Amino acid sequence: MNRFGTFCAAISQILLASACIGAEKSAGEDSSAWFGKNVPALQVVYEDLHRNPELSLQEKRTAAKLAEALAATGAKVTRNIGGHGVVAVLENGPGPVVLVRSDMDALPVTEATGAAYASQVRVADAEGRQTGVMHACGHDIHMTCLIGTAKWLADHRDAWKGTAVLIGQPAEERVEGARAMLAEGLYEKFPKPSAALALHVAHDVAAGKVGFVAGPAFASSTSVNILVKGRGGHGAMPHNAIDPIVQAAMLVVDLQTIVSRKVNPIDAGVVTVGSIHGGTKNNIIPDDVRLQLTVRAFRDETREMLLASIRRKAEGIAHAHDAPKPEVTIDEGITPTVNDPGLVARVMPAIRKTLGDENVVAVEPTTGAEDFGLYGQGGVPTFMFRLGTVAPDRLEDARKGGKPLPSLHSAEFLPVPDAAIATGIRAMTSAVVELLPPR
Ligand SMILES: [Zn+2]
Ligand SMILES: [Zn+2]
Repeated sequence: MNRFGTFCAAISQILLASACIGAEKSAGEDSSAWFGKNVPALQVVYEDLHRNPELSLQEKRTAAKLAEALAATGAKVTRNIGGHGVVAVLENGPGPVVLVRSDMDALPVTEATGAAYASQVRVADAEGRQTGVMHACGHDIHMTCLIGTAKWLADHRDAWKGTAVLIGQPAEERVEGARAMLAEGLYEKFPKPSAALALHVAHDVAAGKVGFVAGPAFASSTSVNILVKGRGGHGAMPHNAIDPIVQAAMLVVDLQTIVSRKVNPIDAGVVTVGSIHGGTKNNIIPDDVRLQLTVRAFRDETREMLLASIRRKAEGIAHAHDAPKPEVTIDEGITPTVNDPGLVARVMPAIRKTLGDENVVAVEPTTGAEDFGLYGQGGVPTFMFRLGTVAPDRLEDARKGGKPLPSLHSAEFLPVPDAAIATGIRAMTSAVVELLPPR
């Protein structure tokens, strides 16, 4: 069977399961039967998505598959919002509106998991180099949980009242997709939510569990480019030139003192120089050197302080070398993702009740970045929880000093899909029902 055939079979299994559930529900069937019937079909959907990853801004097939699966639940689906964005609206009478977000994009990583459904996709990157493409950040699990959540809500309409808006967001890895969907009217053309929810896979939480943190959960991320300027000349006669390489080297070292000396030790920040390029040959002093930095912080004041310090140090070193003023360009960046404490306090008891206390763990904030925080626009409270993906014995072994766990974005990251999918749907539907109680 070709890939499309496999996917269609999975969708029809979902629909078939739906028809059976209708009859069984009236006979008092409990939720474990729903999961027993639906998770195997959802796992087929997951494997199809995993096998066919697409890079940011190229999520055409993925969006089509997600839209098709969401439409199969009876949701009203609109496509191409903010690029390949998908918006599914599931209405169930008057009541509040809750948004559930999944992202859709994959990464330029060549998969090395050895899974039967591993991605074989290869594409040329912007420089023309061949690279593999892989769902190394688990967005395939996120989409599968979104479909499962829509399906569960459609099958249990007496358990909730109101409107669920389920979205597939493109280009999360470039932190562009949320901004694009909001700019194209996500909160104007579709019902505006009173809360926005999401989940993200975690590489260090056991499958079957979820993790959560209230308050800042993901850091802000800002890219800074610095063009260190000098005056080129012969390498043998540096006194006739202004050397930008020496300036850049001093700047890279001096930037390390910002976090260690200027950030409150109780707070956190990161300044990383990820790229440095200058010069062409041993005996030529170049005109300039380019640095590319990423800056992370949990608080806006910290972010502003880090950026001002970077600019001051770049200009200060140029001044000390009698060099032209450097060009420092700062991108718009992405705000921190903050889990609204009130929203967390409201939905976590519902998730605990469903999963059991032993399956809910506290996690630390991460200096990774997410554009989910942008859905907080206009005062919408947001909450993203972490979804465990690791076999419990594997986690235990790593904790005892065994083989380290592959992180997100690693070529070896591979969730335990059935447990992660079932747990993601259980947790997400519990949160949605808590926010959309039946009257
Ligand atoms: Zn990622
Ligand atoms: Zn991700």
